[in-house]
Amino acid sequence: MNDIESELLDIVTQIRKHLEYQRMLGVGSIELIPTMTALLTDKADAPSAVNKGQSSATKTGHVPKTEERVPCPCGGLTAVREELGNCSRCKLHKGRKTIVFGEGDPSSVLVFVGEGPGYEEDQQGRPFVGAAGQLLTDIIVKGIKLSREDVYICNIVKCRPPNNRNPEPDEINACEPFLLKQLEAIKPKIIVALGNIAAKTLLKTGEGITSLRGRWQTYHGIAVMPTFHPAYLLRNPKDKALVWEDIKKVITELDRIRQG
Ligand code: URA
Repeated sequence: MNDIESELLDIVTQIRKHLEYQRMLGVGSIELIPTMTALLTDKADAPSAVNKGQSSATKTGHVPKTEERVPCPCGGLTAVREELGNCSRCKLHKGRKTIVFGEGDPSSVLVFVGEGPGYEEDQQGRPFVGAAGQLLTDIIVKGIKLSREDVYICNIVKCRPPNNRNPEPDEINACEPFLLKQLEAIKPKIIVALGNIAAKTLLKTGEGITSLRGRWQTYHGIAVMPTFHPAYLLRNPKDKALVWEDIKKVITELDRIRQG
């Protein structure tokens, strides 16, 4: 290997390490600014490529927020992930393989909040990647017509409860401040609360998901649509129609936000 080849290898290795680190922090995608796109497409010295660049987010159907955007929204989430660290604040840390922080667009208008990681999520360190995750992905892609990368997906607790039991109150209490900080960093307009634990935790209510679902609520000023958990739908497919009713309300609200 000559000097140039070894220098290039070094640069590529560093970029790879940086991207792996960002992914570990929960950053699911990185939006290229026009200058970077121009560099990558060999148009570095063509100023028009910089000035006329259209944000990839707009192209993918992501709903831009109307208010002023924080220059680097991932900075907020990155700081939250760093604060969480190699968490041992509750007993769930003892049985986990991986912290499942969350992933997706760090400035998405739409956030899905589930209950907690299952086996697959714990193995992969990513939320909703098992069977229930496939159903959630269908809801996002086929129903809402967005991609997983356009939204943000996370959970009430970030470590897998043993045998997929419900997270206990002390575990929820230990983890909730981090969910709140994630939401403060993302600043979504809509949260979809998936299932009983997510809805009850966010809404501080004893009311069950069967009566809550389909009715707009609020969490720290953010609109919340409670609906059934995808794992419940796998066991009760007849209730998919009810979730579709709830998701249609979310789509209507997204359209309203898009129109400003
Ligand atoms: N169920 C959840 O609530 N969250 C996940 O990430 C996976 C399954």
